[in-house]
Amino acid sequence: MTDFNSPSPNRCLLILLDGLGDRSYEELNFQTPLQAAHTPNLDQLAKTGANGLFHATFLGEALPSENAHFVMFGYDLSDFPGRGVFEALGENVQLAADDTALLSHFVSLDIAEDTFILKDGKPELTANEIASFSGAIAEYTAQKIQIEFIPTGGIRGILKLQHQTSPAITDTDPFFEEQPLIEPLPLEGYESHQPTVATAAALKEYLVWCHQQLINHPLNDVRRRQNRSLINGLVTQRAGQLKPILPFGQKNGIRGLSISSGPMYRGLASYVGLDFLEGHNSDNPEIDLKQRLAMAETVWNEYDFIHIHSKWPDKAAHTKKPGFKKQVIEALDKAVGSSLVPFVQDPNTLIVITADHSTPSGGPLVHSGEPVPVIFHGTGMRRDQVSSYDEINAASGSLGLMRGKEFMLTLLNAINRAKLRGIMQTPHDCPVWTTDYQPFRRP
Ligand SMILES: [Zn+2]
Repeated sequence: MTDFNSPSPNRCLLILLDGLGDRSYEELNFQTPLQAAHTPNLDQLAKTGANGLFHATFLGEALPSENAHFVMFGYDLSDFPGRGVFEALGENVQLAADDTALLSHFVSLDIAEDTFILKDGKPELTANEIASFSGAIAEYTAQKIQIEFIPTGGIRGILKLQHQTSPAITDTDPFFEEQPLIEPLPLEGYESHQPTVATAAALKEYLVWCHQQLINHPLNDVRRRQNRSLINGLVTQRAGQLKPILPFGQKNGIRGLSISSGPMYRGLASYVGLDFLEGHNSDNPEIDLKQRLAMAETVWNEYDFIHIHSKWPDKAAHTKKPGFKKQVIEALDKAVGSSLVPFVQDPNTLIVITADHSTPSGGPLVHSGEPVPVIFHGTGMRRDQVSSYDEINAASGSLGLMRGKEFMLTLLNAINRAKLRGIMQTPHDCPVWTTDYQPFRRP
């Protein structure tokens, strides 16, 4: 068992810089934004830590944050419930076991030869318009499935489908403008699965009804007169349904907290059983990360694992300006320099710095499939020759390339929790030594 008096890590602070990994750009002298950024504090951690690359699944696979995080928290993607579930939980939408939750948002559609075409995927709506349009499509029943649209801010909402539904259906959002919408269809293998067939049919009927409701809405007459695009459709993505999973504490044998922000992370934390503290959001990446690190410091004695999330590198990359992403990274490095000191000085703390996926700040992709650089910094970690935190130097580090659940296993190992494989203290195969097993009592 862990000896808490010895100077070796027994807990982990994970700083997750969302979408940090990137590609090289001519305007940055053929470097990535992280390579080009001046990051003396991250470099110092790389120099005194172990370095490597990480991909949550397979090299080349472009992952959304929710899938990558789920794996990083020690879970198999076969247990992944779908992002719709996380966002629903994050918005306090209660789901029954046979409900399906989908992400949805208002769009402007064209119709060409009876096909819906996405004209504007991010239309601007006033608060009044959002309230009225949401009201017009709030409830519908088809195929004995009750459908509810729950607005969640801006043009977005959760679509909740109730009673014997299935999430095994295609999206309807084509993601790219001027492209036809996708018809809701059962996924491969579910073509004759009754709940799936009914869900796809009900969703199709509802979305056609939404178009009718919206096209005839008086506020669209106003928009037409103002020469603004019509809000005449709803598109859906990433259907999800609850799945039974072991809570984080039982799964990994450690008490965990997530300091992040937004409904997705709130819902993800609640789903996997991490405590949650909502981080502050401003227009300053340095202040935001500093504030989250300060929050972590105040509760550090209560946890074995804290996930601190910064969405900033991902957000910056989505502007498709490599130079802006570089600036954001430099700001985050400053926060690390000032606010990470107490953690760095604590011999019982392992600091892990990495990302969930790469987000290219150039080119057409949303996210991309390159691995991301990772630092494991703490007493006992194998120090390597890497002296700079970036995608290229990390590749020559002592951690090599980590994939999938190797991340959480490596983390648990580094905080001296790793149990010998094959030792079964609990009915589920917990990767760490635990005292939380059923004591053997004399009958
Ligand atoms: Zn992400």
